[in-house]
Amino acid sequence: MVKQTIQIFCRIKPTKSKTSVYEINPVEDGAHLSVMIPKEATDGYINNKKEDFRFRFRQIFDQTAKQEDVFALVARPVIDNVISGYNGTIFAYGQTGSGKTFTITGGPERFSDRGIIPRSLSYIFQQFGQHADQSHTVHVSYLEIYNENGYDLLDPKHEAAKLEDLPKVLLMEDEDQNMHLKNLSVHAAQNEEEALNLLFLGDTNRMIAETPMNQASTRSHCIFTVHVTSKEIGSATVRKAKLHLVDLAGSERVAKTNVNGLLLTEAKYINLSLHYLEQVIVALSEKHRSHIPYRNSMMTSVLRDSLGGNCMTTMIATCSVDKRNIEETISTCRFSQRVALIKNDARLNEELDPRLLINQLRAENLQLRNQITIQSGSEQFTELLTAELIAKLTEQVKNYLADTDNEATLNVGADMRKIDQCYRAFKKLHLELQEQVKTASATPNKNSQPIYITHDISPYDSKEVKELKEIIKLRDNEISILVNMLKKEKKTEYRPFSESTTPPTDSSFSASDRAGNQ
Ligand code: ADP
Ligand code: MG
Repeated sequence: MVKQTIQIFCRIKPTKSKTSVYEINPVEDGAHLSVMIPKEATDGYINNKKEDFRFRFRQIFDQTAKQEDVFALVARPVIDNVISGYNGTIFAYGQTGSGKTFTITGGPERFSDRGIIPRSLSYIFQQFGQHADQSHTVHVSYLEIYNENGYDLLDPKHEAAKLEDLPKVLLMEDEDQNMHLKNLSVHAAQNEEEALNLLFLGDTNRMIAETPMNQASTRSHCIFTVHVTSKEIGSATVRKAKLHLVDLAGSERVAKTNVNGLLLTEAKYINLSLHYLEQVIVALSEKHRSHIPYRNSMMTSVLRDSLGGNCMTTMIATCSVDKRNIEETISTCRFSQRVALIKNDARLNEELDPRLLINQLRAENLQLRNQITIQSGSEQFTELLTAELIAKLTEQVKNYLADTDNEATLNVGADMRKIDQCYRAFKKLHLELQEQVKTASATPNKNSQPIYITHDISPYDSKEVKELKEIIKLRDNEISILVNMLKKEKKTEYRPFSESTTPPTDSSFSASDRAGNQ
């Protein structure tokens, strides 16, 4: 278990106006942001005698900081942990226009403006490519929460003209009081391109929903989630982790939004939703609080693990240093100082997959049976292989080679003639490939060796065979116990949302995932 407080970073948005309202000073293990309130503002919004404020951050990115640097210092360590099996969350908090979306998703103009999400996807697949001894899966979901309603941004139908057209995601509670998301689709991504296409689809849906009358993106929370599983080849132990990348609604106060009618209702909702986030954070940062009000809003329910639970969490406070925004900047920094007090307990999410174990034991048994057949010489294969069988074996070899699963096996039983035939097929395919590569110099492969081969079969060894049979018996018992366990588990398993896309790593978040803050 890794106990760690939420790491807080600050990013200052570039401004054209000359400002001398802030200062950054490095300190041990971090940096201080000093904010000076301009004299003329003190009689206005800020009814406070104090004119200088100082806030401590893990790191402060000044106006000239590049997206690349923000990714390297903020996101990369979190993702390294996600790949190792620890949940991770990065969320951006700040007033509208302070650079949350720019930081999390990026700017559309230049490739170098890519934000944390596309860079993370790229990095994840790059890291996977370096671990040939492991197999991995990546699944993605994208949720927008607006006025306490959840919407699935990865609706494949592309027909949404407004947010309300997207499938509604509901928060449901099961009888064990675990919260589940109903109707949030989870999509597999085989490679970086597929993952980026999903992000693009989600962002397109997000933009369509945003009209001048309905500035949903500044008033809603967006949570892009990457589910990662990793497994050593040949092992039945799977590591699963979730990475939430969160673009929160603008944190400006409702009194300042100066709107009425529908927009006022929206502003009130956001304010309410961020207010509940604040309540959760205040409760978590106070010692000896037994009740944490996660259930008050959809966002705090979804991010429950990220706040005081089984997760490594990082926050980026985005700040504007224009004079008129100083009040909000101070409020953003104050909020982050509270967040910095929250302790999370990240656990390694590692589990034994009984299905994998069964498959492994079955494969082992088959191998042992084949070994017995060969060693005991109990079956003599002497007749010629038929042309039909040879074609079938060649097909099997081709399928085996085409299978991208590193753990795929080719099993033709204990018949040495078949095994030899497979080798022959391998050689033929290899030569064909070579020929394709150097078409000019290749000599045609006239491989016409006889397909009938005799071979020595080891003498019958009753002791060894007996031992092998014993092992098989034991393995068979283990398999049937596991199968029974699985059957029982299936019967008792609570599946309240069978109609929604089944997530690979559960899109629900169960109490057992958490560190006990209730
Ligand atoms: P928010 O999501 O907090 O409302 P945005 O990310 O949309 O704010 O930023 C507002 C505008 O400022 C956008 O046009 C964005 O491209 C620009 N912007 C924000 N941060 C930066 C930055 N660090 N460098 C360049 N442009 C930025
Ligand atoms: Mg935004």
